[in-house]
Amino acid sequence: MKEAYLYSNVQGKVRCTACNRYCLLGEGQTGFCGIRKNIDGRLFLLSYGRAAALAIDPIEKKPLYHYLPGGRVLSLSSSGCNWSCSYCQNYEISQRREIMGEYLTPEEIVKIAMNSGADGISYTYNEPTIFAEYAHDIGVVARKRGLFSTYVSNGYESAESIPYLGEFLDAISIDFKGNGNDLFGRKYIGILSYTPVFDTLKRLKNAGIYTEVTDLVVPVKGLGDNQEDARTLSRWIMDNLGPDTPLHFTRFHPDYRMRDVPATPVETLERHHAIAKEEGLKFVYIGNVPGHPLENTYCPNCGNELVRRYEFQIKKYEITPEGRCPFCGQDMHIVRKRRTSW
Ligand code: SF4
Repeated sequence: MKEAYLYSNVQGKVRCTACNRYCLLGEGQTGFCGIRKNIDGRLFLLSYGRAAALAIDPIEKKPLYHYLPGGRVLSLSSSGCNWSCSYCQNYEISQRREIMGEYLTPEEIVKIAMNSGADGISYTYNEPTIFAEYAHDIGVVARKRGLFSTYVSNGYESAESIPYLGEFLDAISIDFKGNGNDLFGRKYIGILSYTPVFDTLKRLKNAGIYTEVTDLVVPVKGLGDNQEDARTLSRWIMDNLGPDTPLHFTRFHPDYRMRDVPATPVETLERHHAIAKEEGLKFVYIGNVPGHPLENTYCPNCGNELVRRYEFQIKKYEITPEGRCPFCGQDMHIVRKRRTSW
């Protein structure tokens, strides 16, 4: 464990400032996420150095489709979470609130990444916001070795954490794990409101961290698959992040406490896709439906298929080295280089 960076002392207690729960912890108390604890008036990250899962993944799995396409990342998680999604697919590491995993220093993690031929490191599987200090220290070393860093996050970062992430983070996939409907968030995630997620998206844009957005479409009681919510989300992205922001509608699969809810019908995802396109977003995708044509990238100007995918593998790639459509010259908004300034 290691003393946390993201906290303050408040009237004899500590307030964690890593995420929007802002847990106020008395002596000996542990935060909602289960891995940050007040010990003798100082906040400690109990899971610092503890890697609960390590795997090599294509960057498309995060999903990040327009950031260094075809790149490989070392995926890393710790344990615990600041959300309590009833359908969490990684509940064994996220929802037990236990400290688990092998002890590995930041230098050792970067060495593993480099030895396995990865181009970057992705902090994923459980919410990285809660282990930001470990991710930060890995990311700083990784940057020196020429590796990029990405988060897969629920977007519940505090305002205080964004400048800290800006010291090492290149790209982020914000996964709503629902559709931005507050009723859904209260019932199935354990949050009062999605407003902090929208605030995070604006702060990430201001900080210059490359962002893609994911909306997990959960077909439950008209709350998680509501078409009006899909329109509201798409319109918000258009107005606040811009039409070039990639948006992924991903398919829910039954898991954890929601094994009785069937997988999202493909037609529902297609309808969401159509709504986002109607609202003007240029790069909209369907995820978790291997082989579906809407996994692919089409030029928003001439309509030609430029990138064909099967699940997370790229099967065809015809975007020019300058990131343009070879048929009409349209800018396809592909990031081909990691950040060079912070
Ligand atoms: S990171 Fe954990 S301890 Fe900190 S505010 Fe969020 S839930 Fe609470």
